[in-house]
Amino acid sequence: MTPEYIVIHTAAFKGSNCDASRIDEWHKARGWSGIGYHFVILNDKHDSKPDGKVEVGRVENVVGAHTLGINSKSLGICCVGHGDHSDFTEAQYSSLETLVHQLMQKYAISLNNVIGHREINDLIQKGLVEPNYRTTKTCPGIKIDMNKLREKIGKCQDDVSLVDPAKLSEAIQLIRTHRTYFNNARDELDQFLNHPEVIEFLEETS
Ligand SMILES: [Zn+2]
Repeated sequence: MTPEYIVIHTAAFKGSNCDASRIDEWHKARGWSGIGYHFVILNDKHDSKPDGKVEVGRVENVVGAHTLGINSKSLGICCVGHGDHSDFTEAQYSSLETLVHQLMQKYAISLNNVIGHREINDLIQKGLVEPNYRTTKTCPGIKIDMNKLREKIGKCQDDVSLVDPAKLSEAIQLIRTHRTYFNNARDELDQFLNHPEVIEFLEETS
């Protein structure tokens, strides 16, 4: 499966100790093969696991069971708690924003395609999904402002931990040595090489 959408959900459960294995049990009880979401983000009501912890549910390349109409082309993320009664915790938002941002980059998914479950109705409105998939659900919950969430995700910086500083430094040195190869781009390359951010990076890694 190549996902085109990322769909955010709430577990719609106010109790404590909800996690991926608990949801897995619920979904198996429905006769499903197991948990329908690809990721679960815990809240502050777990006795032994930290607030904001990201747990893996269904494997990423396997079609999930979370949003009728787009299951075959989406990844489902469930935030523990009940979004109709309380907002996600700060730690949940922080993990959610990072996770969504990483998945967007990995699968080249645009911010517009990061939706709350209830927003499937907007896709129907646009003629992108069949009308019979309309939902009455409020998921991820009336307390959750999807526009605000998208705005915050849009401001996420690239995850620098994914960058290998040695390779990057090597690449910059290569440009430095061979910048004359691109005669017409030389000014821009020099501008890049002399940018404070680049100089700072080289000083830090040398
Ligand atoms: Zn949902």
